[in-house]
Amino acid sequence: MSMPHDPNCLFCKIAGKKIPSKVVFEDEEFFAFHDIAPWAPVHFLIIPKAHIVSMAHIGPEHEGLMGRLMALVPKLAAQEGCNPYPEGGFRLVTNTGKEGGQEVHHMHFHVMGGTRPWLRG
Ligand code: AMP
Ligand code: ZN
Repeated sequence: MSMPHDPNCLFCKIAGKKIPSKVVFEDEEFFAFHDIAPWAPVHFLIIPKAHIVSMAHIGPEHEGLMGRLMALVPKLAAQEGCNPYPEGGFRLVTNTGKEGGQEVHHMHFHVMGGTRPWLRG
């Protein structure tokens, strides 16, 4: 399977361990790590290791990858200490493009949870 990487991309560098991060999970396809500026008691990011720019770049060829990514979310949320549903739970956020508030142009899913209040959101 081809895995495009962008040598100038912050999240490619994090997934390639060229820039250190607090690792939550890793397998051949995905990397998850703590957000450097958390909004909530639990706040980590899940990324595909392949350099996919944004949700706007997702098509039918990504259905399998996206399904596997979604299935990781509840598993990692529980692992990182999100409280159980329904009293607990988490937010899953994917900013896309400038108007969507995307700052890092390597698709990522924010998972935020934990006992409120949170800094934002
Ligand atoms: P977004 O606005 O959705 O593109 O969010 C990018 C996120 O990446 C922000 O929440 C940042 O705090 C986070 N971030 C930026 N640099 C790093 C880094 N070196 N390690 C972990 N998270 C980072
Ligand atoms: Zn990248």
